[in-house]
Amino acid sequence: MLYEVRFRCNHVHTMALTGQVEERTRKIAQYNQMLCPECRAQYTTSHIREIPRFRAFAVPANLMP
Ligand SMILES: [Zn+2]
Repeated sequence: MLYEVRFRCNHVHTMALTGQVEERTRKIAQYNQMLCPECRAQYTTSHIREIPRFRAFAVPANLMP
């Protein structure tokens, strides 16, 4: 069953919800507290630091004396 769900970021997405009525109501309430999938993806990308930078200090084994 497809539902139009409003997320915390105020975006509305059509979500496929399954299960009993209580289960679906619970999921919708949960979604209301969450960022939509797009905003969540954006949030994750913007919060990832440049971790590979640290790898620059690693010396390849064949260059070790
Ligand atoms: Zn959103």
